[in-house]
Amino acid sequence: MIKVDIDVHSGFCFGVKKAIEAASELLKQGEDVYCVGDIVHNEEESKRLNQLGMSIIDKKAIGDISSGTILFRAHGEPPSAYQIVNKAGLKLKDATCPVVLKLQQRIKNSYEQQKKVNGQIVIFGKKGHAEVIGLKGQTNDEAIVIEDESQLAEIDFNRPIELFAQTTKNPDILRSIVKLIEERASQDFIWHNTTCKQVTGRLPRIIDFALKYPLVIFVGGKKSSNAKVLFNACKSANSNSYFVSSEEDVDISWFKKGIDKVGVCGATSTPQWLMEKVAQRIKNLG
Ligand code: SF4
Repeated sequence: MIKVDIDVHSGFCFGVKKAIEAASELLKQGEDVYCVGDIVHNEEESKRLNQLGMSIIDKKAIGDISSGTILFRAHGEPPSAYQIVNKAGLKLKDATCPVVLKLQQRIKNSYEQQKKVNGQIVIFGKKGHAEVIGLKGQTNDEAIVIEDESQLAEIDFNRPIELFAQTTKNPDILRSIVKLIEERASQDFIWHNTTCKQVTGRLPRIIDFALKYPLVIFVGGKKSSNAKVLFNACKSANSNSYFVSSEEDVDISWFKKGIDKVGVCGATSTPQWLMEKVAQRIKNLG
């Protein structure tokens, strides 16, 4: 009999958990729920909520809806999205993660301050990512978004600079960008480590977990960047690690002779029920 353990540190972060609870509560009340964008980067969880009646819509489609509740997911939205919902006269459930909301507020305040001194707001993040669109929106879309050090030339080093990071960014890369800006800035430079501990704390933990098992099965959505980062960490710690999106992906050929225990883990967007289904399938194979 194979022993199967599920990593206690894997699964939804509190921001995603809160958004899914908000959706589930509305659906239970019989409400038509329209989530703007994927509620979570996990196809199986999205499928489950869709079967319960939740629709995923594009922001542009809000105007086509006549009733029901619009749900803003954990990533947050720019002020213009709130105006669209208001104008359409629809109900809004704002499930923006409190960490993101606080960051939006900080960027908004800093933008007002920097305007007075001809300064610039810089965001270290992924261009076009939903969270970054929401953050940039706090600055009248004037913030400069940089994805890596190759884009530093977009900053004017002769003006004050205030730097923030998208919550899911790697804090080590953030520090190396800070160093490069410090070397070039001729005016005031302020920076804030706004990466989320719910993400950064997972890396060392998942490595510890992966090292304890002869075989590791990582459960994650194909679209989740967090799943990619955490799986790569697993794989580098333990080469006998495999990525699955559902229990059906588990392959019997991975279970070589002598494997007596298996570790199951996942991303901040992986539901607990899905890791349990994968664990059950492994037990059945055993
Ligand atoms: S990773 Fe952090 S900031 Fe992002 S939704 Fe989860 S708790 Fe919120």
